[in-house]
Amino acid sequence: MGKRKSSKPPPKKKVIGKIPKYFDCPFCDHSQSVECIIKRENGIGTATCRKCNANYSTQINDLSDPIDVYTDWIDACEEANRA
Ligand SMILES: [Zn+2]
Repeated sequence: MGKRKSSKPPPKKKVIGKIPKYFDCPFCDHSQSVECIIKRENGIGTATCRKCNANYSTQINDLSDPIDVYTDWIDACEEANRA
């Protein structure tokens, strides 16, 4: 009986293209009104609220997900509030 290599789960598939995701807006408090779009070709992620048009863009890397853009935005908002 031969030893079997422990089977690792397959690596995460690289997601190609834009995956819109929706989050709660930090400005107008609407739920699921913020759309985060990852533009890997530009290395930019954007978040835009469909209700109040608040928007934010940030640099992303290959591993960034829409949630990372959103959390960056929240961080930026908190910093602005502190200032
Ligand atoms: Zn909003």
